[in-house]
Amino acid sequence: MNLHEYQGKDILSSFGVRIQRGYVAKNANEAVAAAKQLTAETGTGWHVIKAQVHAGGRGKGGGVKLAKNLKEVEEIAGQIIGMQLITPQTSAEGKKVHQVLVAEDVYYPGASETKEFYVSVLLNRGTGRNMIMYSTEGGMDIETVAEETPHLIFTEEIDPATGILPFQARRIAFNLGLEGTAFKEMTKFVTNLYTAYVKSDASLFEINPVLKTSDDKIMAVDAKVTIDDNSLFRHKDYLDLRDLREESAIEVEAGALGLNYVDLEGNVGCMVNGAGLAMATMDLIKQAGGEPANFLDVGGTADAARVEAAFRIILKDPAVKAILINIFGGIVRCDRVAQGVIDAYKNMGNIDVPIIVRLQGTNADIAKKLIDDSGLDVMSATEFQEAADKVQSVLA
Ligand code: GDP
Ligand code: MN
Repeated sequence: MNLHEYQGKDILSSFGVRIQRGYVAKNANEAVAAAKQLTAETGTGWHVIKAQVHAGGRGKGGGVKLAKNLKEVEEIAGQIIGMQLITPQTSAEGKKVHQVLVAEDVYYPGASETKEFYVSVLLNRGTGRNMIMYSTEGGMDIETVAEETPHLIFTEEIDPATGILPFQARRIAFNLGLEGTAFKEMTKFVTNLYTAYVKSDASLFEINPVLKTSDDKIMAVDAKVTIDDNSLFRHKDYLDLRDLREESAIEVEAGALGLNYVDLEGNVGCMVNGAGLAMATMDLIKQAGGEPANFLDVGGTADAARVEAAFRIILKDPAVKAILINIFGGIVRCDRVAQGVIDAYKNMGNIDVPIIVRLQGTNADIAKKLIDDSGLDVMSATEFQEAADKVQSVLA
């Protein structure tokens, strides 16, 4: 589950990580009230207005702007809320902005220069350990840093038995070129950040930039936080943080029906049981010259109700030109699936794309006969290659 910047910052703050403070606003009036509140609490005269959408690169797309007085807060908030924000990380049509974070300006001048860093916490799947990835090159795309100046990216692996140790926090602060107060602040920052990552069951914390202010405070200016969905049962309070407006509507609907569905760009809809077979089926479609329109794992119980739900989801995608149903009847018998397909097809009434059904496993022969005798416009196949050839022929 991905969080908005303001939600991620709330979590960080609750674990003692210093953040750029702010309040979320849904319209220009609320933004002005938030700005006044921040001025009262922090003394800041300037504010940053930040679009809250699940995408990075907002600054580049005009979704992060500095306001130097309340009139500008009102104007900029009014302009950003409701806009379609296009950033390097969104699709071409962009994302609608429903709310902004009104934050204190933390780039104020002072005794020393401000400096931006990059710090993230994530799982290194190779070693099975969490690691802190960090760089002196904050504020820019980490992908670009990795490509052009990879020697400026450092990693610190953490032993799960001990957690982050003081010498590791000091090494990070040292490699980032800090000294004095800023050095101490950074050790506290990364230690609390790591603890927050573990305790919140996150799978990603990406803080870019981490700012050293002109008075040597270290704080999170941005926060990209992903919580591991499998941990949500023990974080009931995080469930409310989910913003369905940020997710693909069709994926949300499929999820509610208990289907594992991922929307893709292609033209062949897939209905498969089991994630591994679903992946192999997508390869098969590509080999046959098509492009999968989706990943869809209907799970173990491919009965008529589920098959019908899957049909409805697949057919919501107007790009679909054919549907390949590829079911292995191990636990579920093929003849039951075939009957499910026939019932669902009849029930739907208006399927106007060709359907190729490959059923293999227990009672596959009975299933094939059921499909062939059904009188419906459904092609059956028993072999993988045969199914691929049929997909190819209907796409031609
Ligand atoms: P992103 O573009 O989606 O990654 O959004 P960020 O939260 O990282 O903000 C983008 C950029 O806005 C940052 O890299 C900063 O340079 C700038 N910015 C953020 N907060 C402030 C602030 O308080 N004052 C000023 N002057 N600039 C800020
Ligand atoms: Mn950022």
